[in-house]
Amino acid sequence: MALVSMGPMLKRARAQGYGIAAYNMIDYNSARAVVEGAQALDAPVIVQVSVKTVKHWGYTPIAHWVRDLAATVDVPVALHLDHCTDLDVLRRCIDAGWTSVMFDGSSLPFEENLDKSLKAYAMTEQAGVGLEAEIGAIGGVEDDKHVNEDEARLANFDECVRFVRDMPNLAVFAPAIGTAHGMYKGEAKIAYDLLERITASISIPIALHGGTGLTEEQFHRCIAGGCAKVNISTMHKMLYINSFVKLKEQKPNLEEPLTFIAAQNEAMKEDVKSVIKIFGSAGKAADARSVLTQRH
Ligand SMILES: [Zn+2]
Repeated sequence: MALVSMGPMLKRARAQGYGIAAYNMIDYNSARAVVEGAQALDAPVIVQVSVKTVKHWGYTPIAHWVRDLAATVDVPVALHLDHCTDLDVLRRCIDAGWTSVMFDGSSLPFEENLDKSLKAYAMTEQAGVGLEAEIGAIGGVEDDKHVNEDEARLANFDECVRFVRDMPNLAVFAPAIGTAHGMYKGEAKIAYDLLERITASISIPIALHGGTGLTEEQFHRCIAGGCAKVNISTMHKMLYINSFVKLKEQKPNLEEPLTFIAAQNEAMKEDVKSVIKIFGSAGKAADARSVLTQRH
């Protein structure tokens, strides 16, 4: 299939009560593991890319890799830009073929975040791609941005309502609800009451950031509470490195790089499949496809 915009399928996922996995790719092999894992379970999926990764490989190669991978499968695949603070980078991704982008103005004062998010919204509306926008401050490390425990703050409910008011077509909304990027030290403290309050007044699908390390029960509760896009990044990165290192430790004389790449692909793909099962999106490709003619 051609790459799809994530908005309609996330709306559908929220209405049907399942979550769509959004995996951060590192390179072609990891993107392939995500797409193949989704295809194996007949699930819609989002391949997302950090700004750092975009800058490492370049806009066009990434867009081509993911577009070509999506063309080999019949499950819906969206190509999404994760946590971008720069409207120029957003524009370049849209021009290169991304089907959705995230503008992250969460480190800005509310009014400034709103102002810039509205600019991003206008840009994505015009281009026909989906937008994700964030408020509050999600803890942990994402790209080179560190938000320590003291700085992490939950989204303010009234600000959430105001924030989305002029963005009716927002593909997905990311209020900080207590999850964090990276690995959790203890169990994540999720503000379910805030999530419930937000989803009772806002019909836009919610994005759950900081998925690595959450328990199955936490995933289920968040997804049931309106989180239709569930981000996984840290686990994918760990498997990317560990699968390589483990094989070399087990077989020190192995010198064929393709054998390592295949092992890496297999480890990441298995993780993608187990996550998709937890999120309830296995077998939902047709369900997600059924709404693709709708607007982003
Ligand atoms: Zn995030």
